[in-house]
Amino acid sequence: MQSLVAFQTKSGNRYVYDRRTKRLLLCHPLLYLMAELDRRGIDVSEWSKASRELPFEIGVSPADFDDSEILYYAEEWLLLKRNDMFAPIDDRARLSRRLTEEDVAHSLANTHHICFETTEACNLNCKYCSYGQFYAGFDGRKNKQLDPETAKRLLHALETRWKSPQNTNPDRRIRLSFFGGEPLVNAAFIKEVVRHARASEFLRDRLVFSMTTNGTLLMRNMDFLVSNNFSILVSLDGDRRNDSYRVYHDGRSSFDDVMRNLETLRAEHPTYFEENVRFNAVMHDRNSVAEVHQFYRERFGKFPALSALDTSNLQQSKRNEFYKMYLDVARSFAENENRSEIEQDLHTNLPSTNRLMRFVNAQLEFSVPNYQDLVWPNNESKVLPTGTCIPFSRKLYVTASGKILPCERIPHAFAFGRVTEGHLDLDCRSIADHYNKLYDEMTKLCARCYKANTCGQCLFKQMGPDGPKCRRFMDYDRYAQHLSEVVSDVEDRPEFYSEAMDTVVI
Ligand code: SF4
Ligand code: SF4
Repeated sequence: MQSLVAFQTKSGNRYVYDRRTKRLLLCHPLLYLMAELDRRGIDVSEWSKASRELPFEIGVSPADFDDSEILYYAEEWLLLKRNDMFAPIDDRARLSRRLTEEDVAHSLANTHHICFETTEACNLNCKYCSYGQFYAGFDGRKNKQLDPETAKRLLHALETRWKSPQNTNPDRRIRLSFFGGEPLVNAAFIKEVVRHARASEFLRDRLVFSMTTNGTLLMRNMDFLVSNNFSILVSLDGDRRNDSYRVYHDGRSSFDDVMRNLETLRAEHPTYFEENVRFNAVMHDRNSVAEVHQFYRERFGKFPALSALDTSNLQQSKRNEFYKMYLDVARSFAENENRSEIEQDLHTNLPSTNRLMRFVNAQLEFSVPNYQDLVWPNNESKVLPTGTCIPFSRKLYVTASGKILPCERIPHAFAFGRVTEGHLDLDCRSIADHYNKLYDEMTKLCARCYKANTCGQCLFKQMGPDGPKCRRFMDYDRYAQHLSEVVSDVEDRPEFYSEAMDTVVI
């Protein structure tokens, strides 16, 4: 496919972008015109010397420029092309890297985050729960609890790998995190696993603990969490009305209980509250960016991550009901008059800032995929399709029934191993084969997508019953529109661009 994408921003500036080298050029109107001619298969050299008729409308008229300018920019365009810019990309060949058994074994030996689905049970019945009424593909909730012996077996099996020569960063911290349901419903499990892990000579000095919680059971577990220096992420969607989807099974609001627990935690352990407690607000039709911002500023002086409702794996029959509840976070932010104040406080938690960061970090030439490319840049190197992580490179997730997955966000049908009574049943060869089959399927779609070389999508979220289907697929026009929006944002916020350019992210 073409690597050249030409677009204009809201302010009328014209750019050309080279997908292969990730170079972005701000253009003179005539250079933009040459790019458009070339993209549409018209010979720039001949055109500039002959009739100069335009068979399309792009807002630049050759009649407004004199001969020498037209010839100059035609030559400049051809010079760029002679110097390795805008060469077509063989996307299918580029997306042809596949996982090997060794990749998976290496990743497993280096895994640094084990996440336990402590229990399927939850004392709340939030209307939008990702295991709830709207979603398909996850195991039915049967209030199953993860057995501490299963967790111990898993840690024991992993310890052998962590100690092996395949672990290239043996001093790295190892995070044990607890997820649910509501993990504190099974606090006994958490306490037993923490005690067991602390008793391991290998793990003892490497451990960090974290938990995602609905905050209702904090009070009775406070001392344990503080003494083990847990990082906790509390889900709270704003004030009482904003938070009103977060209810107990009998329909009562959980808001007062959560607030009381948080206030007690803050009063008794102020330093811990400041340093270890973070928040997440799910965004929906009962809150807005402005309301959430104001609530958190007044009540806690700290700001939450904003999560949109997950739109993948929806039950077909529930789509209409779901989309009544859905809130477009970017739009909710854009509707505010005091955007700059919110932006200053929420910063990277906002989708617009996030999109800018992803653009600067992945779509410009200043980012490289690995150290080797830093020294020997290679625009032709093969890559894995999509933005899916290599299994276990971010975490290893074990469900309450002992199934193993790369994270908690993907349907359980994709489980590729389990911890059984006897041992850890994980076959790196078959995991690689499983991924590679899915990659082959996805490549049919991704090889036609202009976002392919900077895709951040997870493969498991695009796999439907009838094969791959991606809502983020971008043809040329959609990709040009995407670039136009994101570069318009950069033009509006030059200070953000300077900050990003001054920051090295590894
Ligand atoms: S959502 Fe996909 S890419 Fe993200 S951590 Fe999970 S498996 Fe990896
Ligand atoms: S956006 Fe979707 S179709 Fe495009 S490369 Fe990523 S996963 Fe493939």
